[in-house]
Amino acid sequence: MKQDLIQKAARDILRSKKTVAFTGAGISVESGIPDFRGAQGLWKKYDPQEYAHIDAFQKDPAKVWLMLKEMFALILSARPNPAHFGLAQLEEMGLLSSVITQNVDGLHQAAGSRNVIEYHGTHWTLSWLKCREKREARSLRLEDLPARCPKCSSFLKPDVVFFGEPIPWRAQTLSFHEAETSQAMLVIGTSAAVYPAAALPMRAKERGAMIIEINKDPIPSIDLLSDYLICGSAGEIIPAIVGEIRKSRGEEPEPATA
Ligand code: NAD
Repeated sequence: MKQDLIQKAARDILRSKKTVAFTGAGISVESGIPDFRGAQGLWKKYDPQEYAHIDAFQKDPAKVWLMLKEMFALILSARPNPAHFGLAQLEEMGLLSSVITQNVDGLHQAAGSRNVIEYHGTHWTLSWLKCREKREARSLRLEDLPARCPKCSSFLKPDVVFFGEPIPWRAQTLSFHEAETSQAMLVIGTSAAVYPAAALPMRAKERGAMIIEINKDPIPSIDLLSDYLICGSAGEIIPAIVGEIRKSRGEEPEPATA
């Protein structure tokens, strides 16, 4: 049954004139970064509404930095998994137009994806809250954080979109364009509960795209939209789809990467 759906996804991607991927925290779980709603990790300890809201950061940056430092350490040491590599291969094969990601971990780019739209920003750069000057995450030492700007004295904040902050205009515009002009959308490892990101699969569907969902658990809100769900881990399913595509093109399977 699952194998049938994997073969169907391969055929649908080959048939589609434009396919985009919309990814969430679930695709990075196999890289060791916990998702929001999963049973384990960070978000059991830190309530996202309390720690990931811009009001909380402005009120008490030092408190929010307790959570940010843990996230930072995880992201800096994480490596892409076979799901990230599989999407990069699809792009390389000319079968994936873009990856719209809600993730802030940079793992799609690390795997080789080139057209990545970071809908919720990135942890890899930070800006001082007032003067907006940027710093590269790699240039900072974890033990020096949280840090204040020597010029404007505001706190450094990762360039991620906190709850209560607007989506960067370019990411918003590009994502909706990609969704509206796609014929197929792969919705991977997201509970699609965070808006406005969650509106992207809806918009794609309204404009006639096929929605192929890949998720560990069925999610009622996306299941209503999706044409079919391939239930399981993204790190297993995406490379299997790429393998089917290669097989149907008579190509050799790609050696495993991780
Ligand atoms: P979510 O936690 O709400 O949902 C994750 C989904 O992925 C769940 O449905 C879960 O069943 C599924 N999942 C878990 N492991 C999987 C696997 N191996 N393969 C396939 N599916 C798997 O995440 P969300 O919908 O992305 O919303 C969370 C928000 O938090 C996002 O906006 C994101 O910005 C942020 N976030 C990002 C990261 C990151 O950058 N890696 C991590 C945590 C949270």
